[in-house]
Order: sequence, then C-alpha cells, then structure tokens
Amino acid sequence: MLIGLNDRRLPPDLDVVIAGLGPVGATAALTLARAGLRVAVFEEAPAGGAAGRDGTGSRASTFHPPTLEILDALGVAEDLHEVGLVCDSYQYRDREEGLVARFDLAEIKDDTPFPYRLQSEQQNLVRIIADRLAGMPDVHLVHDARVAAVEQEGDTVAVRVETAGSAGTGDETVTVRSRWLIAADGAHSTVRRELGIAFEGMTYPEQFLVVSTTDDFAALIPGLAQVNYISDPREWVVLLRTPLHWRALFPLPGGDAGDALEPAAVQRRLQAVAPQDRDYTITNTRVYRVHQRVAARLRDGRVLLAGDAAHINNPLGGMGMNSGIHDAAAAAAAILAAETGDEALLDRYDEERRGVALDYVRVVTHGNWESLQEEDPAERRRQHDRMRRTAADPALARAYLLRSSMLAARLPEAAERPA
Ligand SMILES: Cc1cc2nc3c(=O)[nH]c(=O)nc-3n(C[C@H](O)[C@H](O)[C@H](O)COP(=O)(O)OP(=O)(O)OC[C@H]3O[C@@H](n4cnc5c(N)ncnc54)[C@H](O)[C@@H]3O)c2cc1C
Repeated sequence: MLIGLNDRRLPPDLDVVIAGLGPVGATAALTLARAGLRVAVFEEAPAGGAAGRDGTGSRASTFHPPTLEILDALGVAEDLHEVGLVCDSYQYRDREEGLVARFDLAEIKDDTPFPYRLQSEQQNLVRIIADRLAGMPDVHLVHDARVAAVEQEGDTVAVRVETAGSAGTGDETVTVRSRWLIAADGAHSTVRRELGIAFEGMTYPEQFLVVSTTDDFAALIPGLAQVNYISDPREWVVLLRTPLHWRALFPLPGGDAGDALEPAAVQRRLQAVAPQDRDYTITNTRVYRVHQRVAARLRDGRVLLAGDAAHINNPLGGMGMNSGIHDAAAAAAAILAAETGDEALLDRYDEERRGVALDYVRVVTHGNWESLQEEDPAERRRQHDRMRRTAADPALARAYLLRSSMLAARLPEAAERPA
C-alpha cells in the first residue's frame, strides 16, 4: 500500500522515477511528463518547504542564455522572467583601481534569443515547475519522501522510498519500480552513494561568505553593473543584484569561519567595499564550503546522475545550477530516445556531460577563482590588460561572452581562458 501520496496511487508501470525536486529534478520531470511519460518525483523536503537541504535562498540566482532556451522550450521561461531581473552587462573590477572591463551581452544577440543573464532565485523555478507538474495527470509528485536505496533488476530500477505517512498513519517504506531513475538528489546524493560511485575532486581551502542586503550598492559605487567580479589579492568580492536584494560574496581564508558571521564583522566587510554613513540592512548571511567534484560515472545501467548529484563546482560564474539543468535536458532526451529504441544519446550521456563538467565548468569557474585573487602585481596588470583588450574587441568579446554565458558549452573545446 502506498500512503503519503496525496491520495494518489502510483501506477505499477512507471516510466521514470526522479530523486529530488531541485531545479534539476524539476526540469527533468517536466520535460519527460510533457513528452507523455509516467513520472514519479520523490522529494525529501515537505511540500512548500525548503528547496534543498539548506533552503535558505542563498543559492543559485543566475540563469544563463542556454538555460533560458531550455526553459523556454518547456513553456516556463515567461513565468520565470516575471520574477526575475534582466541583467544585460557585467563588469570586472579591481578593489583599488575600480572598473577594469565591462562586457555587454548585446554582443551575443545573434547567438541566442536571450542575450542576458536572468537573475532569479532557484526556488522560483522549482515553484513554477512544481505548479505545472501538479496539474499533469501522469505525474506523481511526492514530498516528505526520501529515496533510500536503489537496485537494478534487468530492465527495471527498484527504488526504496521512505515516506512520511498521511495523518496518523506513521512513516512507511515502499518499493517503487520504474524503467529509469534520474538521480537529482543533490550534492549528498543517496543514489550516487548507493551505486558506489566516487565523487572525485577537491575542497577549496577557504570557505565562502554570502551576505544579502537591501541596501543598493549601485547607488554607492557609481557606474556599477548588476553583476560584478572584483579582484583583490587580499579579499576579492562578487557583487550581484537579485530581484529582492544585493548579494556580496567573500572568501574566508582558513578552514574556520571565525567571527565572520558576527554582525560587526559583516558590517566592516561591507563598509570596506562601499562605505556609507549608516549600517547596512542585512537580510541573510551564510558561510559554506566549496568543492570541485565530478562523479566517476554519470550513468549506471538505467540510472542517470544529473546536477549536483553528478558534479559540484565553485559559484564564480554561476554555472552549477545551469549545467545541472543542461544535464536534466540531456538525460530526458536520452531516455526519450531510448524509449523509441535509439540508445545513441544514452551511450553518450556520461562522456558528454562529464566532459562539460570537467573540461568546461571546472576550467572556467576555477579560472575565475584564480584570477580574482592573483597576488603578483605584474600578472594582475597583464590580466587586466587582457580583459580590457577582450572587452574592446567585438570578436574577442563575443567569444568570451559565449564562454561565460555557457553558450559555448555546446562546444566543450571552446572552454579556454580569455585571449
Ligand atoms: C550556498 C550556495 C550558493 C550557490 N550559488 C550558486 C550560484 O550562484 N550559481 C549557480 O549556478 N549555482 C550555485 N549554487 C549551486 C546550485 O545551488 C546547485 O548547483 C543547484 O541547486 C543544483 O540543483 P540540483 O537540483 O542538482 O540539486 P539541489 O538544488 O540540491 O536539489 C536536490 C533536491 O533533492 C532533495 N533530496 C536530497 N536527497 C534526497 C533523497 N535521498 N530523496 C529525495 N530527495 C532528496 C533535496 O531536498 C533537494 O530538494 C550554490 C550552491 C550553494 C550551496
């Protein structure tokens, strides 16, 4: 018997089970359901609860052009724009020198219908898609349901799900069978662990501090763009506008966050970036560890790993969620083709998506981290000169924007550093 499923019984002939309703699981579910497959999504958080273990809202907030193209094809881009902020340029700055280079995304207007970044919190996408899924007859969206174990038997994947029972019935464990499983259960993926897949890579030496404020950095720093990477050998900072606030990202050297979250310490940091004669109004602060890790394989039989379950990276460049949504689209396409007897995409899924994670996302985001904190003054000058030359030359600027906006992720070999 199945309980805790909003009075909906799961059919015995499910096509796809998805573990996790983050942005990646949600995108995969909507793609497959729109194509007519029977889909069940199990999410361990309660309905309307946190989108993710931490769910504080300080996670991804940048949607790059190719991601908007995917979401547009799914019919959800318009709703996302309604709760988003269009950001058509960004800047590289230096804490001492000020503006180094400004990139205008209009340079890629012939490459994409969305020549900008859309700033919007990732939970907005999850909510928009969950609302769509709720109205689809062949989709079973089950909250308070944790995927706990996985077994493959021939053409079937058996998933053990621990669900919180409906009122008064207590918790229950059920086994659900389907033809495919997409593991979109985040960085701590149970499915990845169950399959014994290593999560190879490294942890950065510093932690990252994110501070959200309702004060307007653009009013304090003349000419500031909505997205700004500001280098400094002692303390780089990223300033990013979201629809509701500004977000500042700082490195915290050493393994210990110390007093970084103390209100006075947070104020000192912000005042050093943009002084004002009163305290900043802080809406959220958060310290977190950052890793670069990629799963040893993204496919195990009829199980596909996608999003943070498959790879995690530093947030400099806003590529984690975006590449995860691209995985979701690729995984769904591979399953849909395989259902018609064509397994070519399925065979390529691991190599292609792992390739993007390793040779593109990792290269670009790690390169961003290195250049923000360059200590050698001569090398810093060279970097700044390179950035200025790149921004001033339309062909170089376009090539650079294709990389930073992830449009070049369609061509992994293009993931080099700026000329
Ligand atoms: C502090 C922070 C800042 C970040 N900033 C950025 C950024 O600026 N730009 C960017 O692109 N990315 C950023 N990221 C990364 C981005 O948030 C992730 O890449 C994105 O959330 C990945 O989506 P996902 O759906 O794969 O995983 P998640 O969003 O983690 O979703 C996984 C879902 O699975 C559920 N779940 C977990 N285990 C189970 C289970 N066993 N059974 C059922 N459900 C389960 C979770 O509750 C969750 O809802 C940031 C991440 C963090 C932590």
